[in-house]
Amino acid sequence: MSYTIAIDGPAGAGKSTIAKKVAKELSFIYVDTGAMYRAMGLYFLRKGIVPENAAAIEAACDEIQVSIRYENGEQQVLLNGENVSAEIRKEEVGNMASKTSVNGKVREKLVALQRELAKKENVVMDGRDIGTQVLPDATAKIYLTASSAERARRRYLELQQKGTPGVLEEIEADIIERDHRDMTREISPLRQAEDAVLVDASHMTIDEVAAAVISEFEKKRTV
Ligand code: C5P
Repeated sequence: MSYTIAIDGPAGAGKSTIAKKVAKELSFIYVDTGAMYRAMGLYFLRKGIVPENAAAIEAACDEIQVSIRYENGEQQVLLNGENVSAEIRKEEVGNMASKTSVNGKVREKLVALQRELAKKENVVMDGRDIGTQVLPDATAKIYLTASSAERARRRYLELQQKGTPGVLEEIEADIIERDHRDMTREISPLRQAEDAVLVDASHMTIDEVAAAVISEFEKKRTV
């Protein structure tokens, strides 16, 4: 049996930073499920499919193969064999992923892939529905959040560092819109699983959050 740590939460709460760090410390595999939704979103964008066209999205699902592999410990996402790991980080791809992840067929396809990965390895998996849907029996479940103002501030600094500054108010508005869509969608909305531990990272350092996750895992694996 493998160990699984599920980390869910809204956009920009620091899930991937924490999940990566925890995976490294425990020698687990980090699985970034958002990257998979982004890869599918990229395919729809390239095909000129609009998010409102559910029939076209569902038909396209059969043409898409998403897979992941690891290079120097970093997850790489392949879309029909092409490494799209850099391209899926674009804002427009994130938006497309957010809009098309409401589709049941898109979710079904990716959830199957995610469960397959977790069967084989000890994983730290982050996303929106890992604790509630993908791995309901996860060893430890964390719901990681932070205020929208703090998440926007971090994203703003990140963009500034990349040399592509944004407008703070616009970033926060985008975060609030994405949260709303993720939390109110019909299938697998973002919510804290009943047995998940809530971690509000608004006033915590990365090390403190990672320590909290590891401590929760240590507690649960011995029961
Ligand atoms: O986390 P990230 O921003 O990369 O995810 C992109 C989008 O994919 C999210 O806005 C969310 O709508 C969707 N997603 C999801 N379920 C997951 C992971 C991501 O619906 N497990």
